[in-house]
Amino acid sequence: MENPVQSSGARRNLVGLSRDEIAAEMKAFGAEAFRARQLWQWIYNRGATDFSVMTSLSKPFREKLAEAYVLERPQISQSLTSIDGTRKWLVRFPDGQEVETVHIPEEDRGTLCVSSQVGCTLTCKFCHTGTQRLVRNLTPAEIVGQVMIARDALEEWPSPQDDRQLTNIVLMGMGEPLYNFDNVATAMKIVMDGEGLSLSRRKITLSTSGVVPMIHRCGEELGVNLAISLHAVTDELRDVLVPLNKKYPIAELLEACRTYPGSSNARRITFEYVMLKGMNDSPAEARALVKLLEGIPAKVNLIPFNPWPGTSYECSSGTAIKAFSDIVFEAGYSSPVRQPRGRDILAACGQLKSESVKLSKAELLRQQSEEAQPA
Ligand code: SAH
Ligand code: SF4
Repeated sequence: MENPVQSSGARRNLVGLSRDEIAAEMKAFGAEAFRARQLWQWIYNRGATDFSVMTSLSKPFREKLAEAYVLERPQISQSLTSIDGTRKWLVRFPDGQEVETVHIPEEDRGTLCVSSQVGCTLTCKFCHTGTQRLVRNLTPAEIVGQVMIARDALEEWPSPQDDRQLTNIVLMGMGEPLYNFDNVATAMKIVMDGEGLSLSRRKITLSTSGVVPMIHRCGEELGVNLAISLHAVTDELRDVLVPLNKKYPIAELLEACRTYPGSSNARRITFEYVMLKGMNDSPAEARALVKLLEGIPAKVNLIPFNPWPGTSYECSSGTAIKAFSDIVFEAGYSSPVRQPRGRDILAACGQLKSESVKLSKAELLRQQSEEAQPA
């Protein structure tokens, strides 16, 4: 199923605008102030895609709005469903760039994995997204648009109070969210608004590879849960696996975690640790990890490495993962092993990488050959 193309000439898209922006837009449009609130609810709480359904607004006003504005989602260029129920949407923007959004249904929850950038400027060695050359920040509309297309597909409008299929959001898709903080923050404020998509900040987790100077702001301004992609216990190894470590080494990163606003034993910081065979998976490293985390309200999430075409890394053995997890658990930290989901559709952690670069190359070649042909 395809959505209409996004570019709509001079008409401005209202999807992705913050409360203040919609208020300013309506003021300039000559509408009374309370109209902005009504529009907000129609767009973000009821998921309206057309002004004609906004029955609390007069017909002439709806028509006037439709002449000036559109309500558009990004386009879905491909939609895949895994045998385990995980769904992956390839989402395309008007400039042809693409990102991936993944919905993971579980018994007691449904988590949406949202992208924050096209590609990623960081180059973690084990991550498929890090190999993508083309990179740009997503706009607030493109970030919140991913949540809205998922809600469309799950038929969850108006924002339900309970029995939801989309209960949690993790900013663990493509990109480094703290390198695009302002746009991520605008989008998450729309998501968290009680008259909007209405998901609590406690159900949102932002994962970062460790952009230390932004961590405090993230806690203060958004108050969402924090996940840190740690993956190594020494700077020597982390410099290799997560090159950002050269800029913000482990000690500085952990210090930022110690002072993360709102963290407590009831709201712990998640430390993600990808299990790479022979690289970072020894019992000694598990013990060193426990030592590093001392004094931080932490939980550990062990992620079996998800291979992708062309990688030279391998996933640790089941026995190594179990031994590692036991050591962390016995030290008093919860240490679940993340079950890989959607592997058959390349939707698991770290496998996301859009084909848009390849596509645009192919398109370029096609265009070149067409140009070479005499008319
Ligand atoms: N850029 C952010 C968020 C996206 S990645 C970050 O790095 O935290 C989400 C998680 O998947 C991170 O912990 C990342 O290190 C991990 N990951 C990346 N590639 C992976 C792979 N191939 N297998 C398993 N986990 C991977
Ligand atoms: Fe970027 Fe995260 Fe992948 Fe590292 S793991 S390259 S920060 S998306």
